[in-house]
Amino acid sequence: MTDLTEVSQLLNKASEDPVLRTALDRAIASYWKKRKQVMERYPYVKELADEVRKIKEWSIDHMDELLGQAMDSVERRGGSAYVAKTAEDARRIVDELVGTGKIITKAKSMTTEELKLREFLIERGNEVYETDLGEFLVQFLGPKPMHFISPSIHLTREKVAEFLREFLGVEVDKDDIEGMVAQVRRFLRDKYFNADVGISGANVFAADRGAVFLIENESNIRLSISLPPKYIAVVGMEKIVPTMGDAWKVVEVISRYGGYKVTSYVNTVMGPAKVGKGDIGPEEYHVIFLDNGRREASKDPILKQTLYCLRCGACQYLCPVFGIVGGYWAGLNSAYSGGIGVMWEYITGDKETATQHAFACLLCGRCMEACPMRINQPEVLREIRRRFMAEI
Ligand code: SF4
Repeated sequence: MTDLTEVSQLLNKASEDPVLRTALDRAIASYWKKRKQVMERYPYVKELADEVRKIKEWSIDHMDELLGQAMDSVERRGGSAYVAKTAEDARRIVDELVGTGKIITKAKSMTTEELKLREFLIERGNEVYETDLGEFLVQFLGPKPMHFISPSIHLTREKVAEFLREFLGVEVDKDDIEGMVAQVRRFLRDKYFNADVGISGANVFAADRGAVFLIENESNIRLSISLPPKYIAVVGMEKIVPTMGDAWKVVEVISRYGGYKVTSYVNTVMGPAKVGKGDIGPEEYHVIFLDNGRREASKDPILKQTLYCLRCGACQYLCPVFGIVGGYWAGLNSAYSGGIGVMWEYITGDKETATQHAFACLLCGRCMEACPMRINQPEVLREIRRRFMAEI
């Protein structure tokens, strides 16, 4: 728990950080340029977003029914399905599947950040490598993922070049982004081939086929989850939609509102490798469906909007508060950031800390203009404040 003084000190300090300001200014400007191009090229995506909103509304209202279907589909296709009621349950299930002394390659996932899974697995005596470049930087430079899509949004290329020079012992040019990516890829290559377990989250999950969908640009996810013999997906229950067709629509909306004209890869996994050991694909497919407050939120008429969130990150780029303090908003102990991050923290984490951070919102509503799901963040954050005031 934190108090309001601590929250204002944290946010004031962040607002005075010149490196953070430079990094945020660059990232926000770049996003809006890309988003404008994307919306011009794919004008139909707004209508598609409305359709996805309806799919999400139906799915959240039928969460338990879809969960049952999703678990049956996973088992039918030779995988194993689990339900974790709490973060602790999820960590215990992963622990039983992984054990100790293992090498683990991990895809970027906010849901596993919510579980503090990397830290947990390292504490249990495993080697864990984040394989998304941004998340890899966060693993070593901290303090936490600062944006849904761009976890290292707070780091300038100058800072990254300095880190890579020290960490990898190689000379890199701060303006050569591709060169920096190549160095990290080189470092990770043997980790993929030697990994015992691959872990990911999910962008969306199709109940009818038991299929995880994962969007990426670096091809790190397909290496992380297909080369190791065991694959574990941690799926927030709000990610389940009825069909493959619905899931593809969600994929397109996330990609476009995330600012991508084209995403390089969309991975779908529907089960273990079929032909035999050593074939491309994991021998074991485990899916852990995570509740951790989601079921309760789905029954709350105001909070349930949070579960429609696709985690595209668009609202974070448009928010005037996020533009100044970045991912510090929602707190350093929260996996999540920004106004939507405060809402996720309230549902899945520390309600009191989330409540304190809810008071930082200006209630201006710009986030709603950016959001494909038209989530009314001011309404939810105002309600969180109201519930707090009603109790004192
Ligand atoms: S609230 Fe909307 S804009 Fe923000 S991350 Fe979620 S879906 Fe994207």
